[in-house]
Amino acid sequence: MKKLFILSTLLISSTLFAEVKQEAVIRNKNFKAKTEKVVLNDLISGKCFEGRFFKIVKGKSDDAICFDDVDKELRLKAATTYYHLTKAHDFYVNELKSKYVKSHKQMIIRLDIVNQFNELGHFGNDNITPEYNNALSIPAGRGLESRGVKPWGNEIWFRPSKKINIEDLNARSGQDDFKGVLEVFRTQTHMTTLQRFISTLVQGQLPKSGMPATEWFNFGMRTVGASVIMEAGYQLSGPLDKLLSRKWYKLETALVPEIIYHEYSHIALSDSLELSHSTAVIEGMADYFAGVIANSPKLAKKIKKYNTFNGKNAKNKKDFMIQFETTDYANTDFVFGLLWGLRKVLGEKEATEFVHSLRHQVTTNSSIRNELIEGIIKTCNETCKNPFIDKISILQQLNLCGI
Ligand SMILES: [Zn+2]
Repeated sequence: MKKLFILSTLLISSTLFAEVKQEAVIRNKNFKAKTEKVVLNDLISGKCFEGRFFKIVKGKSDDAICFDDVDKELRLKAATTYYHLTKAHDFYVNELKSKYVKSHKQMIIRLDIVNQFNELGHFGNDNITPEYNNALSIPAGRGLESRGVKPWGNEIWFRPSKKINIEDLNARSGQDDFKGVLEVFRTQTHMTTLQRFISTLVQGQLPKSGMPATEWFNFGMRTVGASVIMEAGYQLSGPLDKLLSRKWYKLETALVPEIIYHEYSHIALSDSLELSHSTAVIEGMADYFAGVIANSPKLAKKIKKYNTFNGKNAKNKKDFMIQFETTDYANTDFVFGLLWGLRKVLGEKEATEFVHSLRHQVTTNSSIRNELIEGIIKTCNETCKNPFIDKISILQQLNLCGI
């Protein structure tokens, strides 16, 4: 028995490569992005981005990207996704004690993949309109033996970025840079998603698309989260400045920590929230955890500012509207703000455990006004310390958002 123990200890220590350091994008205290050498944990390869929980590959390949890849930007994206995915994985296992995440085996992470996802064939045909500037978590599939499609597990896909001329955005918004465009978006409406907003602005400008904007948008539905999370991606400075100049818009999702946390959260919550399509509930839940894992007071402040219901700033007033129930508004900040508000009532740590338990009481298709609210009440019955008092506080909080 003892021998076996020594042998297995030896095996584990010889297959894990501690202290591999690579350049990755991280946030500093002020929520600014910078590149820094970080330690990549749980690697099972000494040469490539392959670990116990994640294997980072390029496009449709099954081979891990290696540390000596000639493409420097690809290496940066591989290290950044690996590093932040590991952080998110550890959060679910260590902080939330998620048995589901603990049971997960190695997951494939695809960078620079432009193919659409196909439920039967895994990868959509190469000739179908390629996708850029977003990210997507995909459900496992059985494959199609007759067509040589192998079964696959849950995966996360990060699209390559592609420049879109910002002059077109300017012409339509009357603003002189992208930040200005964002402000227009922010102040004019909380009911539309940033991505939809952009896709509307650039419709007809997408190379070789020829696809109506609505259709184009539908392909990217369950993508990168609420506008506040997406904005975190745009409002970066430092090494990412080059991604967003005054001339061009592009979003390199694999370099934005919050987007990585958001996509991983879809996977971590998928024991209850099926990865089928985008709804307000599934997006709001993933955003909540992305905000928590980011653990940045600066981001928290931003979230609070944008999600203050009936706050002093009338522009930020975000009462519930029936349209929020529809798929078109799945990425609105409403559910995110509602869940974030629970932190005020229950405490931060308690609220995070609460929202994690809440996933058992809702589904991807839950409506906000009925099932989500019922789910919150049920979760409180089961987990709140003082269900009676806490439910009253929660209902008061919900009342503030017009529910
Ligand atoms: Zn999402």
